[in-house]
Amino acid sequence: MVLPVYVYGHPVLRKKAKEISMDFPDLQNLIADMFETMYHDQGVGLAAPQIGQPVRIFVIDTEPYRDAFPDVEVFKEVFINPVITNEFGDDFTFNEGCLSIPDLHADVTRKSEIEIRYTDRSGNLQNRSFKGLPARVIQHEYDHLEGRLFTDYLPPIKKMVIKRKLTEISTGKYKPFYRSICIK
Ligand code: ZN
Repeated sequence: MVLPVYVYGHPVLRKKAKEISMDFPDLQNLIADMFETMYHDQGVGLAAPQIGQPVRIFVIDTEPYRDAFPDVEVFKEVFINPVITNEFGDDFTFNEGCLSIPDLHADVTRKSEIEIRYTDRSGNLQNRSFKGLPARVIQHEYDHLEGRLFTDYLPPIKKMVIKRKLTEISTGKYKPFYRSICIK
């Protein structure tokens, strides 16, 4: 089922999400709905707070980047209770977007490599490292679980430039092509 996406300004996006157990009600349905919503809305990642659930789970699938970045391995995964244990390597700047901040993109600089511990959808504990685009998508989705958005990283001048658009999104004056929920 495609779920509505909570957009900029909604308080659920600013909460620190809570850990879940593997017997969380309808966990596998939630995961399936998150993938379906992400594909429908043309995203490469989706975190549970974006569908109004402040719990520590996100899904990613980097397939849409295949054409633009043919060298990057396509990566699809479910991250439950993830903890980024290390961020290192070179600074890497990438133009980010977010389904909760429709049609707004900006360069964000982050470390190029991460180590992350998480539980997969089968309940297995994983310790993995990622670099490049998969690392970037994970860092972005992980931020959602901490109540952070990519716009938080922008310099003040850029924040001023996008302020009106953010207000339009948060008040429902600007709507994406997919179903969405704002504070109003
Ligand atoms: Zn996002």
